[in-house]
Formats: sequence, structure tokens, C-alpha cells
Amino acid sequence: MADAAMPDSLAHPLLRPATDDEHMALALREARRAAEEGEVPVGAVVVLEGRVVARARNQVETLRDPTAHAEMIALTQAAAEARDARLVGATLFCTLEPCAMCAGALVLARVARLVYGAADPKTGACGSLYQIVQDPRLNHRLEVTAGVRAEESAALLRAFFQARRGRTE
Ligand SMILES: [Zn+2]
Repeated sequence: MADAAMPDSLAHPLLRPATDDEHMALALREARRAAEEGEVPVGAVVVLEGRVVARARNQVETLRDPTAHAEMIALTQAAAEARDARLVGATLFCTLEPCAMCAGALVLARVARLVYGAADPKTGACGSLYQIVQDPRLNHRLEVTAGVRAEESAALLRAFFQARRGRTE
């Protein structure tokens, strides 16, 4: 299901590096794909040394796996690609603020930076409900940039839940 037309890197080597907005566009594309599959629309990508090494979407229902969040799948893909369980220097882009499970995994993977779109007041563990990725008691902390293309992410989630409510009523 990989999109063959999608280059590994958005950046032309002789031009500027891709921006947070551009990387988030890839994550949003994954989120839209999740919605098409009847999944809560969340997407994630991992960038390592300027290259996109993982692109994933929420697949909890498809895989019948409560841990199949976009971020978890993206971290697994990135670690396989890097042949290293520690993604030192990596940035993970996610359309939605990661939950406690995913935030914990980001710390364990030693990801350098997290960029997320919409905040999640119900389960967000990167500032909303908990702050796991910058807890000074843990042995690794991430740099965090929040709110990148947040409106697009929130609109996808709103549309998804509105459609689902429409079906059950
Ligand atoms: Zn999660």
C-alpha cells in the first residue's frame, strides 16, 4: 500500500531542507488514509538525518491491536529501517498529541524531537493530560513543537466522529 510516487525525502539535496509543515502534510495524508479505512484518523512520520524513514497510520481496528497507534507503528518501522532500537536524532511528526503509551515509547526510543498537530485534551500525554516527553525524572526528554497544521488534523477528527455518530443514531 506504499505510495510509490512518494520520495524518501521531500528535500532536494541542493535546496532547503523540508519544513515541519511539509513533513506534517505527509502525516496528514496517512491520517486521511486511516479515516478511509474506518480508523480514527491519526498519522505519523519519522524523519532521520533529513530522510523520511517511516510513515504510518492508526490501525487499531484493522489489526485488532490496542497498541497499533500511528506513532507505535512508525517507531517500529523507523527502528527497522535504522537497524537500531534507539532513534537518536530522529523527529517524529504526528497529527495528534501522543497518548501515554506512545509518549513512553518516544522516550524509550530516544527520539530527539516531537512535532504534533492538534492537542488531545482527553488522552494527550505531551502537555495536555500528562507531560511524559519532558518529565525531568526520566532519563530522556524531547524537544516539542505543538500546533503544526493543527486545524487540518482537528477537522479530520471532527468529521470522522461526526460521521460515526451519524451512523449509530
Ligand atoms: Zn498513542
